[in-house]
Amino acid sequence: MLQQTQVDTVIPYFGRFLERFPDVYALASAPQDDVLKQWEGLGYYSRARNLHKAAQQVVDIHDGVLPTAYKDLQTLPGIGPYAAAAIASIAYEVPVPVVDGNVLRVFARFWGLDTDIRLPSIRQDIFDRLMPVVATQTPSVFNQAIMELGALICTPKKPQCGICPIQSDCVAYATDQTETLPVKAKAKPVPHYVIGVGLIRYRGRVLIAKRNESGMLGGLWELPGGKQNADEAIETTVTREILEETGLEVTIVRPLCVIKHAYTHFKITMHTYLCDAPHDRALAKSSTEVQWVLLSDLDNYAFPTATHKVFGAISWDSLFDVVAS
Ligand code: SF4
Repeated sequence: MLQQTQVDTVIPYFGRFLERFPDVYALASAPQDDVLKQWEGLGYYSRARNLHKAAQQVVDIHDGVLPTAYKDLQTLPGIGPYAAAAIASIAYEVPVPVVDGNVLRVFARFWGLDTDIRLPSIRQDIFDRLMPVVATQTPSVFNQAIMELGALICTPKKPQCGICPIQSDCVAYATDQTETLPVKAKAKPVPHYVIGVGLIRYRGRVLIAKRNESGMLGGLWELPGGKQNADEAIETTVTREILEETGLEVTIVRPLCVIKHAYTHFKITMHTYLCDAPHDRALAKSSTEVQWVLLSDLDNYAFPTATHKVFGAISWDSLFDVVAS
């Protein structure tokens, strides 16, 4: 949960998650929808799907016990070199360095490395340099100390070199490069997409679609719709996308809301329209499943944050009257 997410955000999720899944067996045997529902709002849903699959592998292949070796940990879904190093060293004292963004910055400065820290090669370089160092230390203490040093003292801007315990051997400090190292290439501008979706009603129910597992937000439910094409009216986007996704030729009733949302690699503006369906024979053409649900049952499904923003922006009372009639 802590990958890409702050501790304060994670704490309530962590408590609820452990209450619902108190051990690896409970998690392994739970339906994926339950796992995603517990994760709802935390983002990066592939973490939840991978954790679920990893629990199943731990039960099926490792007799319910997490492997301890750095390489073995990486055979589990969702555990890459970074997480494997963190788990192996902090939980089991395996001598392997943890190289996160903080550690990269600290050692790019400490050793005076001027390679772009966005390049994968520098991560490997620092990992290789630290391997013999961590072997002479208590791995859990060493790794956490360096991560903490990066978070609190060797910060991205204005590092506090005056109180830094490794200042005497730091190349960046000695050569007055603490403000210019590490070298980091400029990120590409974040693309922006306009999305049109429909709250499609038919006889007191609305249509939701389940996203494909393999893609972003996989396994979550959403309102059918998609990206606006160049020079396309947004209403056309809504009806075209719904037809492509579900086979339904809907009629637009009225606009409901416009929300904005930012993901890591792009931003969206989402227009939501109230639509009427001619019948309820919707198909799951580009999703894994579609369902007609009562508004009162929407809470039983896991939705991405952007869809929750839409739900929060809609005046449900008047809509419910219309939908239920
Ligand atoms: S001396 Fe300054 S730049 Fe060098 S590691 Fe310490 S805080 Fe970072």
